[in-house]
Amino acid sequence: MSSPTITQAEIIQLRSRHFASIPLSLSRFQRRWFLTFPRTYGLPDPDSQRIVCALNTPDYSAPPEHASTRFWLNPSCRSQRYNPSDKTTRYAALSPIHLLLDSENPVARLTGRIRSERSNDPHDEGKQIACYEVEVITPEVGLLRQCYYCLSWEAGGSAATRFSPNGSNDIYWCSLCEAAGWVNSTFRKFRLQDMLPWSNVEDTKDNLYSPARLISTS
Ligand SMILES: [Zn+2]
Repeated sequence: MSSPTITQAEIIQLRSRHFASIPLSLSRFQRRWFLTFPRTYGLPDPDSQRIVCALNTPDYSAPPEHASTRFWLNPSCRSQRYNPSDKTTRYAALSPIHLLLDSENPVARLTGRIRSERSNDPHDEGKQIACYEVEVITPEVGLLRQCYYCLSWEAGGSAATRFSPNGSNDIYWCSLCEAAGWVNSTFRKFRLQDMLPWSNVEDTKDNLYSPARLISTS
């Protein structure tokens, strides 16, 4: 099985004085959006530290084409991390709305719509909070991608090769997994999960694709 290779479109970076102008990127899996790090910054375990925070609670009532560029920014999502090994609240104080709207290069804008959603912060005890609808104005190809099979991220090393789509379900794969083929890659992915359940193989890696790993850092 082959898939078209994306030419070397750039990963869109946003820089904001609200985050010391450290470049950030946007990632998406279907209807779930994330702030991510577009570089590894020499981190010792970069695969576990690429998601800065989740941005929204998926809205399954929105039409697919609408949800592909718009989401309801839920401020309480910022305190949730996908990395079970990181129980800090390191990024809990950041303000995603400021990061998104105050970037030196525009990446998103408010649509002007506002609604209430249930807070994901357990300290709020289920109260309703205001959420603003955000439209992402960067092209989809500028979003940072993760390999569905081995959970590696783009821009993880010196090679700048973009990951290719694997089918049409917002799933991407790295060049190594693509070369191995989906049968081998799937087998390897599930062998690690199913045959070595005690090993916590994936617990050390951020995972765009696995909402079950969403945890609260409270
Ligand atoms: Zn891979």
